[in-house]
Amino acid sequence: MEKMIKTEYGYTTPQEAEMDARLDKWMKHRAKRKRRKQHAKNKKMPRSHLRQQVLERDHYLCAYCKSQGVITPAKTVDHVVPIEFDETLKANIDNLAVICGSCHRAKTDWEQSYYGTGQGNELQRQVDEITDVSTINVLMNGGTQHD
Ligand SMILES: [Zn+2]
Repeated sequence: MEKMIKTEYGYTTPQEAEMDARLDKWMKHRAKRKRRKQHAKNKKMPRSHLRQQVLERDHYLCAYCKSQGVITPAKTVDHVVPIEFDETLKANIDNLAVICGSCHRAKTDWEQSYYGTGQGNELQRQVDEITDVSTINVLMNGGTQHD
């Protein structure tokens, strides 16, 4: 007579009721874990979505090389103005550009001397933010135009 189980725990045996309760608890725990996982996923989303947008906008080409007429495929997305210097530009697509390995190295070195970024360095709060990729390219290559 399976029909005996009419309500959640009402007509079942104590053992079954306990099993049900345990199952219920487990299901709730599982749902909670799933929600938490989903939440973490959502939090990561904008960042990688933004990265993808930048890669497509710049056609997977280094924006710094391109400003000098050089075509260099690249997959790294970098902040034009380092967020260590200006946190507010973190999710700003206009402050993101595709960069190749050699430009990234040159830019990081230049940023350390210009903005004072990097470990053990002191931030140069008084300097202006340089948002123009072409200007940065000139500066990070020692201030001379390469053509
Ligand atoms: Zn480059």
